[in-house]
Amino acid sequence: QEKVNLEARSPDDLRCPIVVIMGHVDTGKTKLLDKIRKTNVQEGEAGGITQQIGATFFEKKTLEAQTAKLNVTEKFDFKVPGMLVIDTPGHESFTNLRSRGSSLCDVAILVVDLMHGLEQQTIESLTMLRKRGVPFVIALNKVDRCYAWKTCKDTPIRDALKEQDEGTVSEFRSRATDAKVQLQEQGVNSNIYWEMGEDDWMNSDFVPLIPTSAVTGEGVQDVLMLLCQMAQRKIWKQLMWCANLQCTVLEVKAIDGLGMTVDVLVVNGHLREGDRAVFCTLNGPIVTEIRGLLTPPPSREMRVKSEYIHHKEVKGALGVKVIGNNLEKVMAGTPVMIVGPEDEEEDIKSEVMADLTKLEAKLSTDKSGVLVQASTLGALEALLQFLREETNPPIPVSAIGIGTVHKRDVTKISIMNEKGHPEYATILAFDVSIEREAREHAQEMGVRIMTADIIYHLFDQFTRFMDELTAKRREDAAAIAVFPSIVKILPQHVFNQKDPIIVGVEVVEGILKVGTPLCIPALGGLLIGKVISIESNGREKNTARKGESIAIKIHNEGNPNITYGRQFDATHNLFSQLSRASIDALKANFKDALENEDWRLVVKMKKVFGIL
Ligand code: GDP
Repeated sequence: QEKVNLEARSPDDLRCPIVVIMGHVDTGKTKLLDKIRKTNVQEGEAGGITQQIGATFFEKKTLEAQTAKLNVTEKFDFKVPGMLVIDTPGHESFTNLRSRGSSLCDVAILVVDLMHGLEQQTIESLTMLRKRGVPFVIALNKVDRCYAWKTCKDTPIRDALKEQDEGTVSEFRSRATDAKVQLQEQGVNSNIYWEMGEDDWMNSDFVPLIPTSAVTGEGVQDVLMLLCQMAQRKIWKQLMWCANLQCTVLEVKAIDGLGMTVDVLVVNGHLREGDRAVFCTLNGPIVTEIRGLLTPPPSREMRVKSEYIHHKEVKGALGVKVIGNNLEKVMAGTPVMIVGPEDEEEDIKSEVMADLTKLEAKLSTDKSGVLVQASTLGALEALLQFLREETNPPIPVSAIGIGTVHKRDVTKISIMNEKGHPEYATILAFDVSIEREAREHAQEMGVRIMTADIIYHLFDQFTRFMDELTAKRREDAAAIAVFPSIVKILPQHVFNQKDPIIVGVEVVEGILKVGTPLCIPALGGLLIGKVISIESNGREKNTARKGESIAIKIHNEGNPNITYGRQFDATHNLFSQLSRASIDALKANFKDALENEDWRLVVKMKKVFGIL
């Protein structure tokens, strides 16, 4: 496959660009996708939009027809043979999909709610798009919410704006300016697209803003036009059709009568019935013959369950369903390759596995950690990177998986309970479903399953859980852990000589806490009792630090007869009673609560107490 002559590629032979729709929840991504699919073309021209697997395909002639009115002024020459819009809007799983290292999508629509401006996921999408170098347009959606908007169904946005009252236009203007400023704050230069100069267009970082209404259709054809312009102006090189197969798994699905099928997106090259295809699974590569290539029927009316069009051969870019044997474990987001007549099967296998192998190599070598399960390899990668780089302390990961969470996954991670790491008996499930059996099993095995469709939510859940756990552990450990302190009795401030002993003291070193047992090493470790309260200037407190003078109340449960002036007096200082166990508990749970100086005190006191 690699031997294809790349020179044969030509700017006159472009493949259609692959488009994704991204943005914050509720900005109108789904609605916009629907609108794009249904925007009325003149009667009789409604064809030219076909449903593929996981994507909608727009023929060139449809794009031309849909943008005809706009093109009176734009005079744009469509060279792309069409456009392929991915059907699942907004999903990180899809937006992070890659094919041979580069982004699977060629251009993107980032949807912003004109009424709300930039929101969290907008910013995340911006980051992702820039990181992957994907050019994009921004749809400033819900323009029809501007006060007293007059609907101009499915018209170019400039025509629609001409119909509006001055007040409506000025509201639109001011909101658009707000969005522009917010984008600027994110380091993104943008402008209303028709106000962009030629220079802006040439500057590859400049982002065109397109006001739209996904409900009434204003500006939707502008979006289509802009995407095509962007494709032809900015990325035509990457769109030159190429015979090297470039193909990625979108989804693995069981279909009645067909068994397990794999939905793939062919970006470049061909797939043919009878090809020996190599797929990636967690258990290694599988090689299987392609038994069928299917796309949905051309029109909705004809669509009967499981009635597909069969193809002998398909050519990128398009979405297609592959039938074959042993496809159960194929992972979404991984590449598909074909073993050609001159190829070494082993080479192809290791290439197909390369991304996963790399990812596994990067997994923490810790034997203890959570199980991370995601819908696609791309999503998994994003999630792992996030856990590694953005969480503090990083969340250790001991196992990964793709697709539905099964009972066996629960069993696998439940081992953490036995290993003494119950906190890692946790599955972080990102955008995948959980088998009912798995849920039940998790209950029995003490495994937590946390689910979310947004990476940050998953992380928040886990962090909250860890915080609660830490708090609880501290509570448990507080009974054992003893903070180091040395206190000096102030003999003129002895208020009560006998149980409860009440004396004024000065903290000479360390941290004195309520609950701390105090003893006198110089008197053979005589236990005076536990501090049951600390008072400073008439106020109760929990902690006193070096240098503070306070009154403490001491109770000795085992020996209530201990009396100031009889067994002990102010000659000797009182010490926190440390032991090996108390020091261990302190280290494990209160590391951050102690300063270096306090830890040095612990070392010093260890000697005093003869702790090895
Ligand atoms: P998504 O979460 O981004 O996919 O958002 P949806 O497409 O589900 O839209 C969220 C809500 O906003 C729905 O109630 C839509 O009807 C509404 N909506 C979307 N686009 C527009 C628009 O252009 N104008 C108005 N007025 N409402 C819209």
